[in-house]
Amino acid sequence: MKTAVFSTKAYDRQFLQPAAAAAGHELTFIESRLTPATAVLARGYPAICSFVNDALSAEVASQLAEGGTRFALLRCAGFNQVDLEACGKLGIRVARVPAYSPYAVAEHTVGMMLALNRKYHKAYNRVREGNFAIDSLLGFDMHGKTVGVIGTGKIGAIAAGILHGFGCNLLLADVVPSDECKRIGRYVSLDELYRQSDIITLHCPLTPQTSHLINRQAIEQMKPGVMLINTSRGGLVDTEAVIAGLKSGRLGYLGLDVYEEEAELFFEDLSNRVIQDDVFMRLLTFPNVLITSHQAFFTDTALAQIAKVTMENLTAFERGAATNEVRRS
Ligand code: NAD
Repeated sequence: MKTAVFSTKAYDRQFLQPAAAAAGHELTFIESRLTPATAVLARGYPAICSFVNDALSAEVASQLAEGGTRFALLRCAGFNQVDLEACGKLGIRVARVPAYSPYAVAEHTVGMMLALNRKYHKAYNRVREGNFAIDSLLGFDMHGKTVGVIGTGKIGAIAAGILHGFGCNLLLADVVPSDECKRIGRYVSLDELYRQSDIITLHCPLTPQTSHLINRQAIEQMKPGVMLINTSRGGLVDTEAVIAGLKSGRLGYLGLDVYEEEAELFFEDLSNRVIQDDVFMRLLTFPNVLITSHQAFFTDTALAQIAKVTMENLTAFERGAATNEVRRS
């Protein structure tokens, strides 16, 4: 089926093209993000394929439907960026890739913890400049520390397993506790998790209930010097609140792979531009903040799986069936 693929980079083409050829689909790669201004590019395409920062809003959905699009393939797991009600009313069916490599995201999460703790990013630069002093690189043993994991689904459970291997004590929070995780950690209330954890890592989806889950009140309950890691969705964290927490010292470390206003920044080379987001730029001034630009998923295993499942989802729609369809609950 003819499909307009938005937000494409060379690495998307590399993995999607062979998967499409194998499944008999014809892809047109578009570099722009899917927005009300670019939706017109999908005119005449029965399917579109979009990524995390392509907002499938009611306005975009309406333009797509007008142009004849009936299927939207998300090449990601999260669907908070999609107006499912509007898509449903307009007859656009939406499918996603529920899991591609939860290991990729969990491993990046733990990598961020280690980098912040042992300051690898600073050590790398120091040694390259011939500075072999280790003062101010002092870290802590992960062994014996208490880590709070919020959301113990696919990614949270793997992150918890890795941290269990390090000898960390695990406090867990989820609306649906997992029997597997109960073997290695203890489910507690969010309040207890905030009060007792040395490290807190977020692995729940962005929903109206979890939007700004980490706000001023949550941060006030945390241990002084706590490490906070977010590799899930930017909107889980109130950025102004974490800046206040970093300034007061309540937050000792912050690792972000996602940011609530990332759509204007991430995945692009803006190194020659003046970045206008003052809140983001303030974050970059802290020595104890590490930001990666939504790369936790970015492994060859994950990209191959995303391409394969996206094409399978398209084939299923073409045949009048559905796999991994998302509907408004
Ligand atoms: P999942 O659905 O397997 O697990 C999410 C867990 O969160 C579930 O167990 C669910 O019960 C729990 N949850 C829901 N609401 C909650 C709440 N209010 N409080 C506590 N727990 C709650 O999802 P996953 O595949 O493990 O993905 C987790 C997150 O990672 C998602 O936000 C996803 O969008 C994000 N993600 C990020 C990247 C990246 O590259 N940074 C890649 C993939 C996924």
